[in-house]
Parts: sequence; structure tokens; C-alpha cells
Amino acid sequence: MSLLSVDEARERILSHFQPVAVETLPLVECANRVLAQDIAATTDLPPFDNSSMDGFAIRVADVTDAADSPRSLRVVADIPAGVSPTISLAQGEAARIMTGAQVPDGAEAVVPVEDTDFSNRDAGSAAPDWVVISKSVTKGANVRPRGMDIHADEIVLQKGRVLKPQDLGLLAMLGYANISVHRKARVALFSSGNELLEAGAPLEPGKIRDSNSYTIAALIEEAGAGVIRLGVAKDDRESVKTLIEKAVDLEVDLILSSAGVSVGAFDFVKEVIEANGKMDFWRVNMRPGKPLAFGKYKDIPFIGLPGNPVSAFVGFEVFVRGVIGKLNGIYNGSRRKVQVRCAEQIDSDGRESYLRAEVHPAENGSFIAHLTGHQGSGNLHSLVQANALLIIPAGVKCVPAGQEVNAWLI
Ligand code: AMP
Ligand code: MG
Repeated sequence: MSLLSVDEARERILSHFQPVAVETLPLVECANRVLAQDIAATTDLPPFDNSSMDGFAIRVADVTDAADSPRSLRVVADIPAGVSPTISLAQGEAARIMTGAQVPDGAEAVVPVEDTDFSNRDAGSAAPDWVVISKSVTKGANVRPRGMDIHADEIVLQKGRVLKPQDLGLLAMLGYANISVHRKARVALFSSGNELLEAGAPLEPGKIRDSNSYTIAALIEEAGAGVIRLGVAKDDRESVKTLIEKAVDLEVDLILSSAGVSVGAFDFVKEVIEANGKMDFWRVNMRPGKPLAFGKYKDIPFIGLPGNPVSAFVGFEVFVRGVIGKLNGIYNGSRRKVQVRCAEQIDSDGRESYLRAEVHPAENGSFIAHLTGHQGSGNLHSLVQANALLIIPAGVKCVPAGQEVNAWLI
């Protein structure tokens, strides 16, 4: 069994996945879904010149000297929001206007109420017949011109984007009530091992509680897929087969398991899968989480993560998050790396290493990383204490204190 680099293993796995189907959904159901179409602006935004203040629309020349000699203007219209004015402002005239209301023809700026002698801002109050302006304004002041934010036909959201709340707002403004998004990928998950108990069970001699199915299920959901928790498979052929067949019935896009992937750990997983597919055991040049299984059962891809809780977590981040991103149609689904400075010297064994660390901001704007205790692959506590995984590249045996490394914030 040869040793694969992390990148090689990742590329091999990713090459087996394609984005899941597209569906059309009402906008309210689209938060966190992945956009499957480019979105072009259907209109300018704002769609008309409008006031950004409650005040009076005026012609600039009428108020040029208003600061020295306040100017009285005749109020010829009252324009609330939602109304399209029909007048055209002539010399010496003003129109009362509310925030968001369309600016009338002929007006060049809005003078805020505060800079006039009209102080009655009660809703429903009548506009005055005359208003005295006591400040000059420049052309365009307090007017949000049509197209200031977005021009019609501009591409404002691109295919492959995970829709954020503010994206939904923009889509609504542009009149997209139904949009084309990818359906959510579905992942079936099971743990395996005779030693595993449910979280609610009392401990028994020689047994531990199954933690992976909780951690990994939450990671799957966080990555944007639906999770089907199949529970724990015993270390026997029937038990494994039953769970995998259940996943097939549920037509999942990926079957994910933890444990049983170290050499000879249990050949029956291989047997079960190979009766209806293919399965490879890999050794990846990484730490933690060297063993990894990849295969297909009845054409459904299968990834076997290592059993140790931290290895399973890291394996998910390194191999599975990107798969879910690709399935969901995300344009760039990988976690963003940040640069952090190591507070202490870090020794490594030359494998690509993912180390648990607590990162906090330093005075000079950089980020400082402290390892969070014992880095053994079974120690979940140091992962819980960490907020980052430091990535030490393959081939590096020592990172001196003060040096910068890449990290994922987790
Ligand atoms: P295995 O790959 O089956 O040899 O398991 C490797 C290590 O991970 C063993 O110490 C297992 O007890 C542990 N392990 C396996 N599955 C889980 C799980 N779901 N939760 C916690 N620990 C596990
Ligand atoms: Mg086991």
C-alpha cells in the first residue's frame, strides 16, 4: 500500500463527485442554499431618484445664499413615499418630501427639515404653504440617484454562491420570487465498533461512548448537507451490510463511516462493500488520520474515516467538507486559510500535520497560536479547547517559534 499525499487523496476523491440536481424554490426557502444560476439585475437600484431625508426638494440656485439670507419658497407639492410625483418644480418652488419618496422633476437636491423653519414632523401633518430655507445645499445633496447601487443587467450574484440573508434581500428587491438552487446533498453516517455505546448509556467495562457520530453529523450539517444518522455498526458483516443497505434505500449521495479503516482492522467492511462495489484502503501522508478508505457501493461513494475522534474530525475537514461543497454545487467550497504566528516551536514528523491550537489576536494585528495540549488522535479535549487547526506542510520537521503557518479557523 503506497503513501498518498493529502492533495492526491483529495483529488482522487473529488473526481468521483458531481453537483447534485437543481430545483426551483420560493425565495423564503433559499437561505444557505447554493445558487444554480447567475443573477442579473432586472432594474436599476434604486429604481428612481429618491430622497434620503425628510425635507424639502428644491432647486439649488434658489438657496445659494440661504445661510446668510434665509429664502422663502412656495410649497407646491407634498410627496410621501410610494407616490410618483406629477409636478415639475419651477423657480422659487419647493416640495415637501419624505425619505424614500421619488424626487420630482426639476428638483436638484433635498434640504433636511432641520434646516428649515418647518419643524412639525408628525405623521399626517399637513405641508406648509411656504417654507423658509436657512442653509444652501449642493446639487444632488440628500438624493439617492437611480442606479446608484446597481445598474440593470449587471450580474450581481454568481452561480455557486451560498446564499446569505442579505442575498435574499437583494433577490427580493430585484423581483426574483423563485430561484434555481441545488438541492441539499444527503449523507448517511454510521460509526462502527463493538466497543461503542450510545451517548445515553451507562459506561461498561471495556466500552466507550460513540462520539464520532455526533461530531461528524454536526459537521455534515454545518457543511450544508442533510445527514441521516444510521447509528453504530457492530464488528460483523451483517450489521455493516444492514446499515449500508439502508443508506442505499434512502438514495443518499455519500455514505460516510468512522473506524475500521486501519490495516486489517476489519476486513468484513471491505467484504461487504466489494460484494457490490469496490473499496480501497489508503495510507495518506498526514497526521492525525493516516488511514482512509474510499470506495463505491452500488454506485454510491463511500468514505471511511479513521476511528479516533480527532482523526475523524480532521479527516472530515481535509476530505469530506470539499466533497459536500462540490455535491452542493458550491463554487469554492474549501475553508479559507489564515496566517497565524506560532507562539512556540513546533516539532513535526514530516507528515502534513493538522495541529490543534488556540488562536488569538496580538497587538500588532497578527494572530498568535498556542497548541492546546496533548495532540494524540484520541484526545477530544484538546480539540474542544482549540479554535484552529494549524497546517504544517509535508516535509517540515520543525517550525521555529515566531514563524507564520497556515491555519483553518474551526
Ligand atoms: P478502529 O479504527 O476501529 O481501530 O478505531 C480506532 C480508535 O478509535 C479506537 O480507539 C476506537 O475505540 C476509537 N473509536 C472508533 N470509533 C469511535 C467512535 N465512534 N467514537 C469514539 N471513538 C471511536
Ligand atoms: Mg474498531
